[in-house]
Amino acid sequence: MRNAAPLLVLTDARCALHDAGAGHPERPERLRFAMDAVAAAARAGTPGLRVVDRLEPAGRSRLALAHAPRYVERLLRLSGRSAVLDPDTSIGPHSIEAARLAAQAALEAVRAVLAGDASGAVCLTRPPGHHAESARATGFCVFNSAAVAAAAAVAGHGCRRVLIFDPDVHHGNGTQEIFYARPDVLYVSLHQYPWYPWSTGAGGEIGSGAGRGYTVNVPLPAGCGDAEYALAMDRVVLPVVRAWRPDLVIVSAGFDAHAADPLGGMRLSAAGLRDLFGRLFALLGEFGIPWAATLEGGYAPAAVRDGVAALLQPSRAEPPTPQQAMPAAVDAIAAACGRCPLLTRRRDDRGR
Ligand SMILES: [Zn+2]
Repeated sequence: MRNAAPLLVLTDARCALHDAGAGHPERPERLRFAMDAVAAAARAGTPGLRVVDRLEPAGRSRLALAHAPRYVERLLRLSGRSAVLDPDTSIGPHSIEAARLAAQAALEAVRAVLAGDASGAVCLTRPPGHHAESARATGFCVFNSAAVAAAAAVAGHGCRRVLIFDPDVHHGNGTQEIFYARPDVLYVSLHQYPWYPWSTGAGGEIGSGAGRGYTVNVPLPAGCGDAEYALAMDRVVLPVVRAWRPDLVIVSAGFDAHAADPLGGMRLSAAGLRDLFGRLFALLGEFGIPWAATLEGGYAPAAVRDGVAALLQPSRAEPPTPQQAMPAAVDAIAAACGRCPLLTRRRDDRGR
């Protein structure tokens, strides 16, 4: 059960005004699919649900916590205009404001959960953020909301360890790049590989310098479903949380590993998504670790609805019927364990 503090949903109708271009899969209706799930959760009597539906756009100094100041200035100058930022990433007159609202939602979500004002917080905003690098918009993403919020948790809220968990089917190259050399923000990603963005997400990318060991990539073969994701949670994600004990978990909540999604090749079911987040939230509840989630990918209506429903579940659902995991996925997960210093150190400790 959740504690008495409300479960916050942060959204703003102006995020639907971001127009990525005709026929683009990152379309305004995604917000409606997400809010359908909120309405269904409210009808089902989900305890403590509270919706905040008006936000202020994030200011330049907050955006510059994760982005190069010159990049922030360049994008703010594009407010009210249309532009093509990269082949996949176009903006319209309302897009920069939408991206600033999305970043502000993540900032406010983190503030609320760290202050104990919320038991968890779910940001239903767009555009998504995890492909946005420190100085480059890419993959439908403009500002990296999860990264801005993680950096603010360290710089402004006294967090020493922030974990970003990213189960979006695509690797979050932007989040990885922003924190690659930092030991205070750990990035753990489950993603299809090889797949977009093609250039990043290999298992050997584990961070550099002081950040070595604080990037954990689990590159999974196409076709993975509930069994493979459950195994990845049990063998990698949850052990990393136990070993590192973050002060805060930010979920880069992408749902395009759903079986219905047109942009991924995975087979997660609604029950599998509930199980994935249920496992995570049960452990965070046990350790008293606050969490906030921000919407990333998820393009089929069912993917967004099932994913948001999984984030809002009041308690851990019954796990789906156990199935055998694909051997290629078992190998990839075992390799990720072997490369992660947090997990190998733990095994060494147990051996002593
Ligand atoms: Zn994605």
